[in-house]
Amino acid sequence: MHTLLPTAIVGSLPKPSWLAEPEKLWSEWKLDGADLTEGTRDALRIAVHEQVRRGIDIVSDGEQTRQHFVTTFIEHLSGVDFERRQTVRIRDRYDASVPSVVGAVERPRAVFVEDAACLRAATDRPIKWALPGPMTMVDTLYDAHYKSRERLAWEFAAILNQEARELEAAGVDVIQFDEPAFNVFFDEVKDWGVAALERATEGLHVETAVHICYGYGIAANNEWKATLGSQWRQYEESFPLLQQSTIDIISLESHHSHVPLDLIELVRGKKVMIGAIDVADPSIETPDEVADTLRRALHFVDADKLIPSTNCGMAPFPRDVALAKLSSLTAGAAIVRDEVTDRDI
Ligand SMILES: [Zn+2]
Repeated sequence: MHTLLPTAIVGSLPKPSWLAEPEKLWSEWKLDGADLTEGTRDALRIAVHEQVRRGIDIVSDGEQTRQHFVTTFIEHLSGVDFERRQTVRIRDRYDASVPSVVGAVERPRAVFVEDAACLRAATDRPIKWALPGPMTMVDTLYDAHYKSRERLAWEFAAILNQEARELEAAGVDVIQFDEPAFNVFFDEVKDWGVAALERATEGLHVETAVHICYGYGIAANNEWKATLGSQWRQYEESFPLLQQSTIDIISLESHHSHVPLDLIELVRGKKVMIGAIDVADPSIETPDEVADTLRRALHFVDADKLIPSTNCGMAPFPRDVALAKLSSLTAGAAIVRDEVTDRDI
């Protein structure tokens, strides 16, 4: 792996059309039972192959084993009734029909550990696995049992910690928690959000990351972004808390966003996964555009702590678009890596 500017993707890649309907978020599986398990593992190996072929350094599963980044994890827990659905407002932005918490939540068995072992077997490169964060899980459910977002978050944090410890034992190098809710519920982030996230990572020896973004390029998110004005300063709320936290890596959105890059200064000392690839726009960034984003970020983060990345997941793209964006990401990182190395000599 490159010691400087190792590249990684945030999460999802498009799924093959034989596994799920392409160019659609959260599309239904086309297989089931043992065929589905085999199909998702085959897709995972393809995702690894494409990342390695295009020079991605920290490899992930491309979320080939997940239909949804939150609910697939929750499907494996007891205490949640998927038949009893309620419409709730998600991230204060859009209404969705969600399952209900009807009893104590527990994890009867590991959720992704066998899939992670499959990823571990597929590459010698460092691997990263993504889990939902406690607050984002709470925000994706109707709670008829605990009736307290904070209490439910602490329950989920303990469950996530069990899963994370087993992922670590399976050979995962980086465990990432997806917390888009951190860009919305600022009081809760302060009161218990960061603390619950730290609880989820308790006792881990691997690197831990938190991904906070402005979401996939769906209409509800694009409309929300249009209301945020010329400067998106949401990270200003969570970053000072995360700087003081035990989390190692902060993943943020940048390219084509209105995030002032000087906000990165607020997490000085942490590793930063910077989004240099837009996941809402199918036009392919040039390597120079990627390099430009990275150079601007380097004013606020040390070169040995910068991880060039995507803004979010790329599941809704045509496969050729997503893969071309991977190539641009690594080509752009290579340009800046050479510059930084030359400067240091
Ligand atoms: Zn995201």
